[in-house]
Amino acid sequence: MRAILLRFGELYLKGNNRYIFESMLVANIKNKLQGEQFKFEKTFGRYVVRDYLPEKEDEIVCKLKTVFGLYSISLAEEVDATVEDIKNYIATIKLATKNFKVAVKRADKKFPISSMDFAKELGGIVLDNNKGCEVELYNPQTTINVDIRLNKKAYIFDSIEKCQGGLPLGSAGKGLLLLSGGIDSPVAGYLIAKRGLKIEALHFHSYPYTSEEAKDKVLELAQKLCDYVDEIKLHIVSFTKVQEAIHVHCRSEYMITIMRRIMMRIAEKICQQNDLGAIVTGESLGQVASQTMQSMTVTGGVVKTLPIFRPLLAMDKEEIMDIAKEIGTYQTSILPYEDCCTVFLPKNPVIKPTIDKCEKEESFLDLDSLINEALQTEEVVVLKRQNN
Ligand code: ATP
Ligand code: MG
Repeated sequence: MRAILLRFGELYLKGNNRYIFESMLVANIKNKLQGEQFKFEKTFGRYVVRDYLPEKEDEIVCKLKTVFGLYSISLAEEVDATVEDIKNYIATIKLATKNFKVAVKRADKKFPISSMDFAKELGGIVLDNNKGCEVELYNPQTTINVDIRLNKKAYIFDSIEKCQGGLPLGSAGKGLLLLSGGIDSPVAGYLIAKRGLKIEALHFHSYPYTSEEAKDKVLELAQKLCDYVDEIKLHIVSFTKVQEAIHVHCRSEYMITIMRRIMMRIAEKICQQNDLGAIVTGESLGQVASQTMQSMTVTGGVVKTLPIFRPLLAMDKEEIMDIAKEIGTYQTSILPYEDCCTVFLPKNPVIKPTIDKCEKEESFLDLDSLINEALQTEEVVVLKRQNN
């Protein structure tokens, strides 16, 4: 019978907490396959998905490949773990390559033949049924893997496909992603979710300076992230009044820095209101003036109660773009709509802002009422993974 064999990696490191991580992973897998017909089995060190409709196999594999915490999968033939059943199946294999090897692994040490001896015997059977083929132990074109598990089943497969890796979604808690319409922040959201952090998102728009399309673009990006994170609660806040006030009252080279500080303060409030434990941004060290060490000191400095996670901090734009393409956000990110940060953009933003100067510029603003007014404009949209 066909089956999908699933392996999980880093969960092995979790000692006594392992069962919590495992139960989250299992729940996430079942949730991802909701609506499909299948059976799920846990056996030591592996999970098995079987009894699905054969025509749904590709779709199920695609979905499993978006589950964080799964390390790799193999499409396998599942047979009873007896010498005879395994031999019978091996005898049906028709190779498409000139050489091969058989690799046997026994999780079940009670299996009556040693791995080495059994591999040799099975190799002989393959040779008999594939005239002209040779055994090649060091660099085989095909490896026939026979994995004998403790559930008294053996799994026979010739390829191992990589999955996401990482940790089960939710195992690190929940945070707030600052989501712009750019390339970086969706990638930051994906990477931090891969480490187990569930995410909600916050987007600032400056309507009517920014268009409806700019907002739709952000909705589309959040929707794409749902392929991985299942659901995103997106908070949308108007930044128009804040930007106008900064534009009127503050020195232009400090405009972006002050904007960022106010964004951070609003983000912290939204985290408190929604029980979120971290702020996540798409900043990368040195990428632009607002992402220098000094800029991050003064923008991060206003957040008193939460950590700020910057998963892209040490990445090059090229690397970030590659991930954006892989996760399917790139094409949407490069659509040419204005982001609120590009409205009233100063010619010479300060590269090394200081706290004193930020505080001086902010003394010209009524910060509390600007922040409260912005929070009043909050709209919330809940996006869910679409079953496609
Ligand atoms: P991105 O590609 O993510 O837009 P960027 O390279 O354009 O990033 P900045 O515009 O400096 O960089 O923004 C840095 C980070 O600040 C973004 O990655 C994002 O996390 C946050 N941010 C910027 N603009 C917004 C916005 N309009 N709404 C929410 N968060 C934003
Ligand atoms: Mg941006």
